[in-house]
Amino acid sequence: MVHGISLPPNQFGGDEVARLFTGTLNWDAHPYFQGLRGMRVSAHFYVRRSGRVLQFVSCRHRAWHAGASRWAGRERCNDFSVGIELEGADHIFYTDAQYERLAQLCAALRCRYPIRDIVGHADIAPGRKTDPGPAFDWQRLHETLATL
Ligand SMILES: [Zn+2]
Repeated sequence: MVHGISLPPNQFGGDEVARLFTGTLNWDAHPYFQGLRGMRVSAHFYVRRSGRVLQFVSCRHRAWHAGASRWAGRERCNDFSVGIELEGADHIFYTDAQYERLAQLCAALRCRYPIRDIVGHADIAPGRKTDPGPAFDWQRLHETLATL
């Protein structure tokens, strides 16, 4: 499952997302973080603007990225999905390096696991989530994947 995230929103380059996923975010560091206080979330992978990939959770374990969700008739997508967060925002174009890395990651995961669909957070939690947003080019991802 593809996500987009930035903390504070629309700001890139800091370590706040990694801190959120590791339970070490200082809630008092920014007013926006107050609304996240106590939130325990994680993702398997985080792809930075540079294309650098960080892994927070083994793919053998569940990560808490989907929340209340449903796909293909099944609830609780955390139980059966890999969460990949892109450092980004709904209305800011993702980087070339991110498409490249994301496609490589999807290809590697497909070799290893019976992955049926690649979807966005917005697809499995419509009305509640919008990421990775309209700035994410699905066609480009699929075209890049097809070349690997
Ligand atoms: Zn998300």
